[in-house]
Amino acid sequence: MSTRQNPPEFWETLFANALPKTHLYAAAGMAMALVLLLVLAPSEDVSAYRDANLLEIRIPTPDSLYEELNRQVAESDSASAETPVDESLSWRVQKVQKGDNLSSIFNRLSLNQADVHAVANARTNADALKKLQPGETVAIAVDHSGNIAEVIYERSALESFRYTRDAEGFNGETIVRETVSANAFSHVTIEHSLFLDADKAGLSHTLIMQLANIFAWDIDFALDIREGDTFTIVYEEEMLDGEKVREGNVLAAEFTNQGKLHQAVRFVGADGTASYYTPQGHPMRKAFLRAPLDFTRVSSNFNPRRLHPIFKTVKPHRGVDYSAPRGTPVYAAGSGRVVASSSAAGNGNFVVIEHNGTYTTKYLHLDKRSVKQGESVKQGQVIGTVGSTGYATGPHLHYEFLINGTHTNPRTVALPKADPISRQEMAQFVEQTAPLFTQLASFRTTQLAYLN
Ligand SMILES: [Zn+2]
Repeated sequence: MSTRQNPPEFWETLFANALPKTHLYAAAGMAMALVLLLVLAPSEDVSAYRDANLLEIRIPTPDSLYEELNRQVAESDSASAETPVDESLSWRVQKVQKGDNLSSIFNRLSLNQADVHAVANARTNADALKKLQPGETVAIAVDHSGNIAEVIYERSALESFRYTRDAEGFNGETIVRETVSANAFSHVTIEHSLFLDADKAGLSHTLIMQLANIFAWDIDFALDIREGDTFTIVYEEEMLDGEKVREGNVLAAEFTNQGKLHQAVRFVGADGTASYYTPQGHPMRKAFLRAPLDFTRVSSNFNPRRLHPIFKTVKPHRGVDYSAPRGTPVYAAGSGRVVASSSAAGNGNFVVIEHNGTYTTKYLHLDKRSVKQGESVKQGQVIGTVGSTGYATGPHLHYEFLINGTHTNPRTVALPKADPISRQEMAQFVEQTAPLFTQLASFRTTQLAYLN
């Protein structure tokens, strides 16, 4: 009689090893047909639409699939299977608790002490068992006489250790599962805030920060985002058995901010570094950031009454005010040299940076300054924190941008362009990136078709 209780999480690992490849393909084919049915069914939720070309790697794991796999394992020639499933084993699954180690887990299960010792001293990969973390899983297979036959320690969906018994004790092997990368799309219309609406569309915080960083030189995410702005992104998803494990890179993106379209694409140059470029091959990265602070902490995003302090106050106001909590990091908008880091009655704690002799940026009312006069700074380096020193009613950053000594609006000034992709790399750039822009465009069209 069979008493096995195979833990479902481990089925995949076991079968990935045990199944001949052809069986996996057959199972994948079945799964694919299922996915096609699911995806082709009319859906209202088009924001989470995914590229139909990539369906083959989105394999669901419904019960029926397990049954099919099970049947195939039973049928498969056990001589050809590397790890036949032993029908006489009973699996016990333990979630690692806070403060657990291997012996506390084994004690809970009242296992044979000699076996416990043998597993802990496995000839290979015994060290892995010393680093159990809460939330991980340990599954122990016990045979009909109560002896440990096998232990699987699942560290993550991607990494497991499997300890099996042989004549000399236990031997541990590492099981690493590789993800498959798939392109995913998303189109979002901003109604409340970038984060709120992106979140509603199922996009992670990390992904939105990636998006914001790509356009950080063109769009002031603190003050320029408006209701009705839209963005479309193509990004990588790392998939395992049809489930998303994590998000990868943004491959292409477009952002329409106040009616103006910005486009960017990821390109890996000959030197192996990845950067974002316009469709024409100009780097998105520019000499100055639009907003010299973490935009997520600026409080005036969607309050139009607070959006126009520039040049509109009674007293001439020659900069931009970013209202943010005290302590919010302030970045150097561009690389340069600190020409002043000091304190004055009106400005409070302030920092002035000179960039290439032509440009100067000023940062006033800081709580703390973290750079000294004469110091070189890199773009994005923290130079201080938001405060309310000097003539300030509340914590905010007053930011000024000067070209040859003349005040300019940093939010609208045309920034100097960096050199485009070299002539030699241009052909490769077009070849690599054109399909991504085509995907963006076709996705946008599909969106409109759905919406109309
Ligand atoms: Zn101000």
